[in-house]
Amino acid sequence: MSETPPFAVQIVPVTPFQQNCSLIRAPSGKAAVVDPGGEPDKIMAAAKKMDADIIKIWLTHGHLDHAGAAEEIKRRTGAPIEGPHKEETFWLNQIRESWRKFGIEDGEDCTPDRWLEDGDTLDLDGVEFKVAHTPGHTPGHVIIYNEAARLAFVGDVLFAGSIGRTDFPRGDHQTLIASITGKLWPLGDDMRFVPGHGPMSTFGRERQANPFVADSVTGYAGVKASAAPSAPPTGKRWM
Ligand SMILES: [Zn+2]
Ligand SMILES: [Zn+2]
Repeated sequence: MSETPPFAVQIVPVTPFQQNCSLIRAPSGKAAVVDPGGEPDKIMAAAKKMDADIIKIWLTHGHLDHAGAAEEIKRRTGAPIEGPHKEETFWLNQIRESWRKFGIEDGEDCTPDRWLEDGDTLDLDGVEFKVAHTPGHTPGHVIIYNEAARLAFVGDVLFAGSIGRTDFPRGDHQTLIASITGKLWPLGDDMRFVPGHGPMSTFGRERQANPFVADSVTGYAGVKASAAPSAPPTGKRWM
């Protein structure tokens, strides 16, 4: 039995932070863009090249590199902005100011058309994605995933070999670890994920080898946590 894949994905790194903006194209050609953080021309060109018509804008969280071009993409496509969770309001309201702190005059504050809650469903022209609320990096962070395709867009919750920063206002390390073990791991070891930065991986690989959240560190699923490592884990932890 052969099945047509439910959608195609293209990753378009944007901004000086090389944030993994993703285009998700349904077989109909309708598409969602996840985390358009900047470089709207580059995103629109990539969409055109894959013959994709953007009808949804989905945000994992309110950081400048993830949401900075959301309003501009909305103006160009008419697509509504869905997500993140409403606890991200304070981040979405300081996108322009945040870019200025990096000396960059770009990006725009953002007002979503729809806030997301844990357990919500997103629709891309008949293809269904699910939402989980995953605070810790930021309080209103969400992940977006498709169970059938075994693929998740996790923003800055988890990276290949690392996890998101928690030193921002309202960031919290223990909350982030709880989001990862409580919301991500139960989706299954074979779930592949697109992180907000860097290469893709699977939850299973991170449960084995990620120095921050391997089972041997968290004690997840009854694995005995080893003694605290002599040196703190290293790994690039992104904005
Ligand atoms: Zn980021
Ligand atoms: Zn972030």
